[in-house]
Amino acid sequence: MVSRYGFSYAHPDDETFLSGCLIRHLADQGEAPVLLLATCGEAGRQGLERAKNREELAQLREQEMEAAAEILGIAKVEHLKWPDGQLDEVDFPTLVQGIVAFIQRHQIEILFTFAEDGGNGHRDHIAISKATTAAVMSGECPSVRELYYTASPLLREQGYLPSIVIDTEPLWEVKAAALRAHETQHVTIGRYFGNLVDFPEERRWEAFVLSWQDGVWWPKNNVEATP
Ligand SMILES: [Zn+2]
Repeated sequence: MVSRYGFSYAHPDDETFLSGCLIRHLADQGEAPVLLLATCGEAGRQGLERAKNREELAQLREQEMEAAAEILGIAKVEHLKWPDGQLDEVDFPTLVQGIVAFIQRHQIEILFTFAEDGGNGHRDHIAISKATTAAVMSGECPSVRELYYTASPLLREQGYLPSIVIDTEPLWEVKAAALRAHETQHVTIGRYFGNLVDFPEERRWEAFVLSWQDGVWWPKNNVEATP
């Protein structure tokens, strides 16, 4: 299956938090965005009240992810099933190889992942950023033309501006529905986005910095129109 747009994240819900409206926007344009998740998100206390153990929580989160994918128009979700919370301890070449295989399977041209600081410093986010970047640089993924990092404090500090900026207000209902689909995570979601009924003005923008294009790092540094 050929899919021009791919997203590589650590946990179920990362895709909605950071890029739910971009993904829906691409799907509405007739694209078939695909998603790779390194873990099933079974670590942490959240959701354990609804599951007997971590394996059951992992399954529950996979189901929630399927529901969110349906809402966002994600054509395919793939899970690498590495342990949640320990992505920086797994065998790095094997992690990279899983991402390479995902890119090759879908012949992805435009790839999105976390910035090097993981956005919020989460070790899994940092690990998937490194591994996705390594996959693109491996020489085994010639289909990739552009690599985007989700905007982050580190990128801002370094002066890199987003080249894709999405206003989430017009599609807020869709993003809120996808967030609700990640039911077990309602506490974190509520803390970040509020009650999901009122539009969260401080979370208005989804933004992505073009980090690499056709062999060139940081090819541009200005704000452009949405794709
Ligand atoms: Zn995450």
